[in-house]
Amino acid sequence: MDVFTRLGLKQVINASGKMTVLGASAVSEEVAQTLKEASQNYVDIDEIMELTGTVIAEVTGAEDGCPTSGAAAGIAISVASVIAGTNLTHIERLPYSDGLKNQVIVQKGQQIHFGASIAQMISLGGGKVVEVGQANKVEAEHIEEAINEHTAALMYIKSHHAIQKGMQSIEKMIEIAKRYQIPFIMDAAAEEDFQKYIAMGADIVIYSGGKALEGPTSGFICGKKVLMEACRKQYKGIGRPMKIGKEGMAGLMVALKQYSHKDENIELQISRMKLLCEDLNGVPGLTCMIKQDEAGREIYRANIEVNSKEAGMDAAELLHALESGNPAIYLRHHYVNIGILSVDPRPLLKGQEETIAEKIRLILARGVR
Ligand SMILES: *Cc1c(COP(=O)(O)O)cnc(C)c1O
Repeated sequence: MDVFTRLGLKQVINASGKMTVLGASAVSEEVAQTLKEASQNYVDIDEIMELTGTVIAEVTGAEDGCPTSGAAAGIAISVASVIAGTNLTHIERLPYSDGLKNQVIVQKGQQIHFGASIAQMISLGGGKVVEVGQANKVEAEHIEEAINEHTAALMYIKSHHAIQKGMQSIEKMIEIAKRYQIPFIMDAAAEEDFQKYIAMGADIVIYSGGKALEGPTSGFICGKKVLMEACRKQYKGIGRPMKIGKEGMAGLMVALKQYSHKDENIELQISRMKLLCEDLNGVPGLTCMIKQDEAGREIYRANIEVNSKEAGMDAAELLHALESGNPAIYLRHHYVNIGILSVDPRPLLKGQEETIAEKIRLILARGVR
């Protein structure tokens, strides 16, 4: 029985990915132990915050870093840092930023909802969002023409939710930002490469600690030293209601240290999905195959194609039955409209692929009502 079941909640099997709504990540044994010990001891918070910044810097190749409670907090704190800097009077009056440089330029196709709105996170940090161009077409002129004496930053949001075509590239935005001497902020919340954007010349890069890192509920910002000092100082202001605790910082540090020499064990993931497919291919109406991630990442999922005539129900009905069961099983369903469900091996705990196969068999045998 897991802790959530003991507390009276339903058991969840997450086969869909790093989903915040399902609890994002399950941390390693070493990170879990760190969270426990840290929560039972005392520490100088300024000291652990600075040390966490140093660890973030080592892993990202940036000058310095700042831990956060998540990437969303990272957006608010980054924006606050470019508006208020380390000036305590300014820090204490945010998000009211009238009279300060406070405009944040964002391409219209990247003005997204990731579970909450990017624009709202920018506003929390005192930023005034300036959307440029059209949802599917932004020219470099749109960005340059929006720059004025109130511009605080240019911001790029990397996400599968954003429009992928017709936007100006990261390289182009960095080039413009440098030419006008404006900070460039990159939201790379779900990205796996913690060094790429710093190496490209971004001033501030924001990551989630619960996504690719598979760390505790947390986030981190990396970038230029003066800006990271300003980010950490926002905890005397708007950062306070989004603070990361001692456990979060300690757990984040350990997760970051593990990440650099973590091997994902892709072979094991593939062999688990192979066994799942062999099992499901014996079920009438199902065809299961291993498929690499559509964006080319090193993720190999089991794709289950549902032939509704033979299976007795369609993919959407099967998905619904799995989600409403106990345990509730969540599969990836980007292609449910064409009859395909997939199982992501990364968030699965030991043996859960067997539970998934068993439940699918049971549901199909029982049929729709
Ligand atoms: C997930 C995500 C966020 C928020 O990250 P949290 O760590 O959950 O706060 C912000 N921006 C993008 C693009 C995301 O994908």
